[in-house]
Amino acid sequence: MLQFIDLTKRYGKADPPALQDFSLTVEEGEFVVLLGRSGAGKSTLIRCANGLIRPTSGEVRWKGESVTRAKKEELLKLRAGMGMIFQQFQLISRLDVLTNVMVGRFHHLPLWRSLTGTFPPEVVETAREALHRVGIGHLARQRADGLSGGQQQRVAIARVLVQRPKLLLGDEPVASLDPVTADAILRLLKEIHRHEKMTTILNLHDVHMARRVATRIVGIRNGRLVFDGKPEELDESR
Ligand code: ADP
Ligand code: ADP
Repeated sequence: MLQFIDLTKRYGKADPPALQDFSLTVEEGEFVVLLGRSGAGKSTLIRCANGLIRPTSGEVRWKGESVTRAKKEELLKLRAGMGMIFQQFQLISRLDVLTNVMVGRFHHLPLWRSLTGTFPPEVVETAREALHRVGIGHLARQRADGLSGGQQQRVAIARVLVQRPKLLLGDEPVASLDPVTADAILRLLKEIHRHEKMTTILNLHDVHMARRVATRIVGIRNGRLVFDGKPEELDESR
């Protein structure tokens, strides 16, 4: 269970708060879409979930443990159970696909392994399985920066899969993809959610996409929660 408790985030003293008195509890296994316009505070909220951003006040708790107050070591431990995907994929462009997946899970391995590509066989096997799972097993030895956007996001998803997270966070994961590719990525995320049952929270700004994948939609406007309900409860006309 993930709890956002009374979060307020101010980036600058003179700025309006990016989040204001924001409270939300996400139960295990939910597929939550945070819906709102650009600048609404979605990215700030999702980055508070794994401690990439510290709120000005309030607290985030993951399974009862404070993410907000966690010290560096504790935070790294908490984050090990959280996977994240991004709008710009965040792959290491000059490494091949397989290595990108392996360094995600096995970042504790020495750097020379990723540079020389000498990973233990079971690590390679796990990464290859993950790539097949997301439909790009044949691209294992391609350089990451030679792939299309959709393919790159599949690599990022494979990198999360080998981590076996209990929580998957997605910060506008389909915002830089064309509609057909975006739809395919969302279907993949939905299929993975159905299979792994990991709690999933995505930022999206398209209501139709949100409806298609979410079990719960949370609307944000000006840093405040303005809607929380099932997709069918969302009145599109407002
Ligand atoms: P969204 O993800 O919904 O587009 P964000 O959380 O990115 O919204 O942004 C919320 C508000 O906070 C916006 O007004 C944005 O300009 C501001 N903001 C976000 N990140 C920063 C930052 N690092 N420094 C200053 N202002 C920021
Ligand atoms: P996106 O919302 O697609 O992630 P943005 O262009 O809004 O991309 O933000 C890119 C980066 O800049 C993010 O890390 C965000 O936190 C930061 N940022 C956003 N708005 C501001 C702002 N007003 N001032 C400073 N940094 C910002």
